[in-house]
Amino acid sequence: MSDAPLLEVDALDAYYGDFQALFGVSMKVEPGQVVAVIGANGAGKSTLLKSIAGLMPSRADAIRFEGKSIGDAPAFAVVGRGIALVPEGRRLFPSLSVEENLLIGGQLGRPGPWNLERVYALFPILAERRHVPSTSLSGGQQQMVAISRALMSNPRLLLCDEISLGLAPIVVRDIYAKLPSIVADGISLVIVEQDIVQALRAANHVYCLQEGRVALQGAASSLTRDSISAAYFGV
Ligand code: ATP
Repeated sequence: MSDAPLLEVDALDAYYGDFQALFGVSMKVEPGQVVAVIGANGAGKSTLLKSIAGLMPSRADAIRFEGKSIGDAPAFAVVGRGIALVPEGRRLFPSLSVEENLLIGGQLGRPGPWNLERVYALFPILAERRHVPSTSLSGGQQQMVAISRALMSNPRLLLCDEISLGLAPIVVRDIYAKLPSIVADGISLVIVEQDIVQALRAANHVYCLQEGRVALQGAASSLTRDSISAAYFGV
């Protein structure tokens, strides 16, 4: 098992009814890596994350985690194995306080170092606002809750779907600045990002999806904004 990647996606197809959204997508995430998945609207980025998280049906061996096939596992079982999703649009429980949202994140998860104290140390503003309804937070603070809620399940792999969406650049910078400390804690990341520059800055490895297929992939250090623009836009 020692040489197996943490996550291996192998020739993954995904469908919404008759519509095929992913075509033979393959991807690897090694321990301690930050992998960015980029692509235009509708390229299939969210579908890839939902498939990994067990929210879309997949062939069992199309997704392997720590050497075990999990493609046909339901979402709760995937969380229990150590994969947590920060969904697009954050999906907080609006009637619950910040702290109640965080505690729900811990319920299905695994034992480990992440708890309320740790996430409040990562995002101190959430400690100050712990008792207010999650809906009264700014967009950036809500994104911090969504990330923290996922961390509360003590994942080995965190999947982040467009954490910059709709946020001011300075807020995006603050949130991205926290990612290295999450990785330093032994968590690998897959970040879906539309901003090529942001993805190249944050990631070790980049996959570019175009119309449901991997159009380009490589080490972030070997790619430039120009080299991936063609794959991104399909021109
Ligand atoms: P975006 O950045 O807009 O979220 P994306 O790269 O994440 O785009 P997906 O959301 O994975 O793309 O969508 C991939 C394709 O699947 C698109 O053509 C989209 O219209 C289609 N699709 C997504 N969700 C559904 C659904 N629930 N039912 C039918 N088709 C869907």
